[in-house]
Amino acid sequence: MTAMIAADALIGANRAAKDPAPTSEEAIYQVMHAAIAERRLPAGMRLVEDQLARLFCVSRARIRAVLQSLARERMVTLQKNRGAFVSYPSVAEAREVFQARRVIESALVREAARMVQPAGLDRLRAHLEREKAAVLQQDRRIEIKLSGEFHLLVAELVGNATLSGYLAELIARSSLVIAIYEGAGAHDCWQTEHHRIVDALAAGDGETAANLMESHLAEAESRLALTSEPAAPKLDFEAIFGV
Ligand SMILES: [Zn+2]
Repeated sequence: MTAMIAADALIGANRAAKDPAPTSEEAIYQVMHAAIAERRLPAGMRLVEDQLARLFCVSRARIRAVLQSLARERMVTLQKNRGAFVSYPSVAEAREVFQARRVIESALVREAARMVQPAGLDRLRAHLEREKAAVLQQDRRIEIKLSGEFHLLVAELVGNATLSGYLAELIARSSLVIAIYEGAGAHDCWQTEHHRIVDALAAGDGETAANLMESHLAEAESRLALTSEPAAPKLDFEAIFGV
């Protein structure tokens, strides 16, 4: 994918919503974050400041600030004298992300089982329906997005914005990891596992919910081909066009 096509994909999100191109740093950050997490901008791709500045009709300085925010969350990697790239997590980093998720999410779900209210369970069950619909439509991108959102919804039951923030970052990085390392034939059965987690929450059984969450994440990690790093795709804009 060339940078230009990716730029179209990026702005496409706005056109679809019939919104003008976002101009505040926060809005640009949101659009770019979603484009990376949803894999419209692939791992390893170079992000050219000039192009992004033109695309969003803002100064390069603003784009740089957004790229720095994304770099703090490790969604983007800044390389000296080479510019910004969509991060390309190593095998070691991929394992770290999943280990961190197991630790944080098993604790969160145990806590959630203690404090969940009927409205929270309703939200989770409505979400499971959306996941089911995405599977039936075979829309892999939406499936991955909804899978991540399920985990955030569980975290939100606890009402700890700091932990939810950490988790949002880990989930976005998981999306990059899955994009790179998803083995051939790997397929989520996350929906079934998500159902079991919701049932344990409804029963107020924190111990079971925590065990299910831990094995669910271990299972997701085991489906990845975390043996060696595939070569990062050569998506350098200048190299592609010889400029
Ligand atoms: Zn899941």
